[in-house]
Amino acid sequence: MEIYLAHTQGFCAGVSRAITIVDQALKKYGPPLFVYHEIVHNKSVVSDFKSKGVTFVDTLEGVPQGARLIFSAHGVSPSVIKEAQKKNIQFIDATCPLVGRIHRRAEEFSKKGTHVVLIGHRKHEEVVGTQGYVANDLLHVVEKEKDIESLSLPTDTPVGFVTQTTLSKDDTQSIVEALHKKYPALIMPVASDICYATQNRQDAVKELCKACDIIIICGSPNSSNSQRLRETAQKHNVESILIDKADELNIALLDHVRRVGISSGASVPEYIVAGVIEKITRCCQVSKVHRSESPEKELTFSLPKI
Ligand code: SF4
Repeated sequence: MEIYLAHTQGFCAGVSRAITIVDQALKKYGPPLFVYHEIVHNKSVVSDFKSKGVTFVDTLEGVPQGARLIFSAHGVSPSVIKEAQKKNIQFIDATCPLVGRIHRRAEEFSKKGTHVVLIGHRKHEEVVGTQGYVANDLLHVVEKEKDIESLSLPTDTPVGFVTQTTLSKDDTQSIVEALHKKYPALIMPVASDICYATQNRQDAVKELCKACDIIIICGSPNSSNSQRLRETAQKHNVESILIDKADELNIALLDHVRRVGISSGASVPEYIVAGVIEKITRCCQVSKVHRSESPEKELTFSLPKI
């Protein structure tokens, strides 16, 4: 058996930044430290921080006046920021700068009175946060291409759109094409909202599909970009499974497999992938692990004041 590692996988710059913010805040202030939503969607990262005294919350109700809080990488709605200010909560914003860029575009559209189609998964924290930047009567959330049929705006309406950062590049393209067909005055952005990390990881999985019989994606089930990696492989007719960590890997699935591909979502620590490689090499006869240098290695986002 040979193992092929996707050339681009694991932590992106936004996730590294968010995790560093929590680490540094813990070091400087110690617990109690609150984080609004999971800092990134990865069970191991979250349980590691819990063990160090971090409390994760989904509302501000249980956060005491004046407490210290970090907003997760997925970003929050302005109403949450206002509520935090009202309670005199000292917050640090770990929103990924690429999500922040989408907030600003959505807000600009809304201020100009332009209708905004928000393409993404309705319940995903990032989408919930972005919705808050658009006035209710201008906001239209679209999850799938067929949702466009039910948009009731006149077809000559100038419409702006923004997307969740972690969608499938290919699916989003067909949604945008259908939207453009229905609304010819659609305002096209200068660049796609799907972030570089999502695109690079999907492209790397497509590369793996050319060589591999099965692809293992490391990532938590609530991680959008990890789920999209699994779907990318499946769409290219390669069997693909999503696991949180090595103990979830059913090694029997690798019976008679000669080439195994491994990738991981943008919120997955390196040690998770190392654990999967270790389990496979322990249980199967592996002749080679193919690795290549990540082209994203040097990319970082600056930190806020902590
Ligand atoms: S996946 Fe993209 S948008 Fe999300 S944290 Fe990483 S770089 Fe930022």
